[in-house]
Amino acid sequence: MTTITASERQELISSSLKARDLSYSPYSKFRVGAAILTKDKQIILGANVENASYGATICAERTAFVKAITEGHKQGTFLAVSISGDIDNHCSPCGICRQFMREFCSLDMPIYLPYSSWTKEKDIERTTVINTTLGTLLPMSFGPEDLDRERKS
Ligand SMILES: [Zn+2]
Repeated sequence: MTTITASERQELISSSLKARDLSYSPYSKFRVGAAILTKDKQIILGANVENASYGATICAERTAFVKAITEGHKQGTFLAVSISGDIDNHCSPCGICRQFMREFCSLDMPIYLPYSSWTKEKDIERTTVINTTLGTLLPMSFGPEDLDRERKS
C-alpha cells in the first residue's frame, strides 16, 4: 500500500467537499461529492447526477470511477477516496457504490468520510472525518478474483 501524506489526504478531502458543487440533484437536494486520489497523484472528481426517471440516477462515487476508468486509470491504481455530503455527519457510500469500488480498489484502500463542517483546522481534532477502508465497509465481499476460482460441476 502506498503511503498518503497528511497534505494529500487533506487535499483529497477538500476536493470531495468542493465536488459537491458539481452535483445535479434537483429532486433530492442531497448533494454528494467524491474525489479519488490516483497513484500518479491526480485527483478525479465526481458528483451525484439525478434524473427525472429516478432509477437512472448515478451516485458521486460511481461518477468519479467511471470518469477515472474512461480516462485510462487502471484497476489497482487508486490510493484513496473521499466522499462528502452536506450533512453534519459522515456521508457513507451506498451498497452499489461499495461493490462498484470493489471492482477497482484494494480492500485496504482508505476511504475518508468528512462531515460538511470539516476544515483543515478541525481535521487536527479528528472529530469531523471518519477514516475507514473499503474492506471495512464491504466485508466478505465478492470481487473479480472470485470469478477465477475453480468451479465444481
Ligand atoms: Zn452510491
